[in-house]
Amino acid sequence: MTINQGVDLQVKWRQRADRTVCKHPRMELEWDEQGYLTGDYVCILCGESVAQRYLAV
Ligand SMILES: [Zn+2]
Repeated sequence: MTINQGVDLQVKWRQRADRTVCKHPRMELEWDEQGYLTGDYVCILCGESVAQRYLAV
């Protein structure tokens, strides 16, 4: 997903009534607006960007 889509997800996530901690069960590669991979992943639930190096652990 793109960076902007991630930002939209973050807004929606913060508006949820049940504020649970997201465990980021599913991630997608993040693309910038020019169509290049940023090297990070974005959670498809909460839109949080997670650097790839943290997933390698
Ligand atoms: Zn998440």
